[in-house]
Amino acid sequence: MTDSFEDNDAFASAGLRLTVDLGALVENWQDMARRSGRARTGAAVKADAYGLGIEDVGEALYLVGARDFFVATADEGATLRLYAPDARIFVLCGIWPGTERLFFENDLVPVIASEEQLAFWMSVLADHGDHPCALQVDTGFNRLGLRAEDAIALANDVSRPASFAPVLVMSHLACGDDAANAMNKQQLEAFRAVSAAFEGIEASLANSAGIFLGSEYHFDLTRPGIALYGGRAVNGTANPMRPVATAEARIIQTRSAKAGEVVSYGGALKLTRDSRLAVVSAGYADGYMRSLSSGGVPLRHTGLPGGQGFIAGQPVPVAGRVTMDLTIFDVTDVPEKLVRAGNYIELFGKNILIDDAARAAGTISYEMLTGLGLRHERHYIAHESEDQKSVGAA
Ligand SMILES: *Cc1c(COP(=O)(O)O)cnc(C)c1O
Repeated sequence: MTDSFEDNDAFASAGLRLTVDLGALVENWQDMARRSGRARTGAAVKADAYGLGIEDVGEALYLVGARDFFVATADEGATLRLYAPDARIFVLCGIWPGTERLFFENDLVPVIASEEQLAFWMSVLADHGDHPCALQVDTGFNRLGLRAEDAIALANDVSRPASFAPVLVMSHLACGDDAANAMNKQQLEAFRAVSAAFEGIEASLANSAGIFLGSEYHFDLTRPGIALYGGRAVNGTANPMRPVATAEARIIQTRSAKAGEVVSYGGALKLTRDSRLAVVSAGYADGYMRSLSSGGVPLRHTGLPGGQGFIAGQPVPVAGRVTMDLTIFDVTDVPEKLVRAGNYIELFGKNILIDDAARAAGTISYEMLTGLGLRHERHYIAHESEDQKSVGAA
């Protein structure tokens, strides 16, 4: 049987495409490992590896030596297990009745973070036998974690069952992205007391930002996330990480408009010159947030001018409001022959850095990456180093 349709190259024909550079990802992890000094370096791959795909990201990091992964849920852990066969996988949101099987069958380590979870975990151990766990201790964030004094009491409780065997005690920094913030030292001191009480058990405090705070924050294991994906971990400093993700949207149509005409919903942009506009196939349903509109977005209070795309060597501003499936860019300053229907405009990547796109939207790179939606076509640039081949072949 033949048909009259050509084979569809999904990436070449996609309205919105996302390229993930696994080589850059791996270099970023190796950079984090160097900065982690004597500590082992893990990887936070929750939320589908910050939107970039836990299968490919997890496997690439596993192949270059990552053996400690942090996910949010047991389901994420079960998926990752297929790509990281003998790694330790920590489940940050802990264990909940009804999910025990996922933990035992996939050898996932629950991160126990409250007295209720601790009591439940003791009952799981009594019913199902020995299994490792981690303990999260709150040192000032007031999100998840046992209170520090309760954790220390637990460490010193001689009556606790032998089957209760934490392999890691951890805490999370609230202000690590601000090196000068006094809270970092306070949390460090509180965590030191906790980790001293759990003598012989590994300790972990630093996320990406914490790694940059210096060796006293590194303990035995670091947990970088955003820096692996190219995001800036520390505010107000140059970002040394390599960009990993590039999002590009296809131009569906270009059009000319006269000075005085308006653009998009609400007529929110009134053109002050004769303009050329490019309409691309991405909108807020794809995570290209409405707050990136050029103006007229009452909910954006930041006073920022809106997002920029990049095409033919130059930035182009968003024109008017971003809509659900479509965004309009002002391409008046780009030579006409370089902006045609079918071309792609970069939304973020090597030219429009993810942090700059996020700032224009009034948010952070984490939210941009994890908000990408489901409609993009993903493409992975493989990491092809010698050590990957040798590890992969072993
Ligand atoms: C998400 C997360 C990390 C990674 O944080 P980044 O800022 O992305 O490096 C580390 N630890 C915990 C507990 C987390 O929730």
